[in-house]
Amino acid sequence: MSYVGPEFDPSQPPKRRIGRPLTVAVAVLVPTCLAGWLVYQATSGSDGNEPARSLPASPSASAGQGAPSGSTAPTSSGTSKPDKEDEKGKDGKGGDGEDNDSATKQPPRRPAANGPLKGKVVVVDPGHNPGNFRHASEINRQVDIGTNRKECDTTGTSTNDGYTEAKFTLDVARRLRTLLEKQGATVKFTQDGDRPWGPCVDERARIGNKAHADAVVSIHADGSGAGNRGYHVILPAKVKSGAADTSAIVAPSEELGTRIAGAFIGATGTGPSNYIGDGTGLDVRRDLGGLNLSTVPKVFIECGNMRDAKDAALLKSGTWRQKAAQGISEGIAGFLRQRS
Ligand code: ZN
Repeated sequence: MSYVGPEFDPSQPPKRRIGRPLTVAVAVLVPTCLAGWLVYQATSGSDGNEPARSLPASPSASAGQGAPSGSTAPTSSGTSKPDKEDEKGKDGKGGDGEDNDSATKQPPRRPAANGPLKGKVVVVDPGHNPGNFRHASEINRQVDIGTNRKECDTTGTSTNDGYTEAKFTLDVARRLRTLLEKQGATVKFTQDGDRPWGPCVDERARIGNKAHADAVVSIHADGSGAGNRGYHVILPAKVKSGAADTSAIVAPSEELGTRIAGAFIGATGTGPSNYIGDGTGLDVRRDLGGLNLSTVPKVFIECGNMRDAKDAALLKSGTWRQKAAQGISEGIAGFLRQRS
C-alpha cells in the first residue's frame, strides 16, 4: 500500500496534534509504523519472532491521535470480540522467558520506584479469566453497558492447541506491570488470577474509574479465522446512552491507543491487523461495556489472532510476549509523559 513513506524522522520530537484532522495523524503514524516494521523485516528476515533489534521504537506514536476514518465499529468479521474483561494478574516477570509460565509466578511486590511515571496510575485489565468457563451462569448474567445489556463476561478464545486467551492476557499484564512499575507508575489490576471468575465488564470499567486512572489498557487476543493476522487497538466510540458517556474520553483514548499501536509494532516487529482497521492497527467500537462505561482514557488491544497458526506461535512465545508488554508499556509511557 502507500504506507511505506520513509519520511519519518525519529529525531523529531513528538508533535501534538491539535485540531489536526485525524486522518493526518493516521497518515503520519501508519507510515512510520510500517516503515519500522519493514526495516525490521528487511533486517531480520524473520517472521517477527526474532530477538528484538533496536527498532525505531515508534516515536511515531507521538503523532497523536488517529482514528481510522469511517472507523465506527468495523466490527470484526468473524472475530471473537474482546467483549469482556476480567481477571487480574500479578507481578510479571520482565524476563524474556521461553514459553513458560515464569511470568505468572508472582514475585513480592515492590514499593513504587522513582521514575518518570511516578504519581501516575495505570489500570491494567487482563481480558477474561481462566475460571470463567466453570462459571457459565455467572458470566452469562446480563449487565448494563449503557447502550444495551450484555453478558457479564466471556471465556475468551484460545489457540487451536489450547493455550487460552485468559492465560495469555494475564501473562502479558504481569510483564507490563513490571515494566510500568520500574518507571514509577502505580499499577492496579482488574483481576490478578485471584478470583474464580470475572469480574464483569461493567465492574472492570468501574475499577479504572474509581482508581482515577490516568490510563487503562485491556489486554486481549483475538479468535478470528486462519490467515487473519496482526494486532489492533480498539478505541471507544463516542457513546452517550444510559449510563455510558464517553464524550470526555474519546480524544485522550485515541491518543493513548495510537501511541500503543505505534509502539507495539516497533517493539514486536509484527504488523497491524490485516483484517480490521484497514492497515491502521486501529478500530473503534461502541459495543464494549469496558469502554462505554469508562470515565478515564481506556483502550483495548488485541495482540494477535490465536486461531492463526503463525500468530499463535508468537502469542505462545514468552519472548514475544515480553516484546508485546514492552510495546504497550512504551505507548502508555509516551501518553502519560505527554499529558503531565
Ligand atoms: Zn478477549
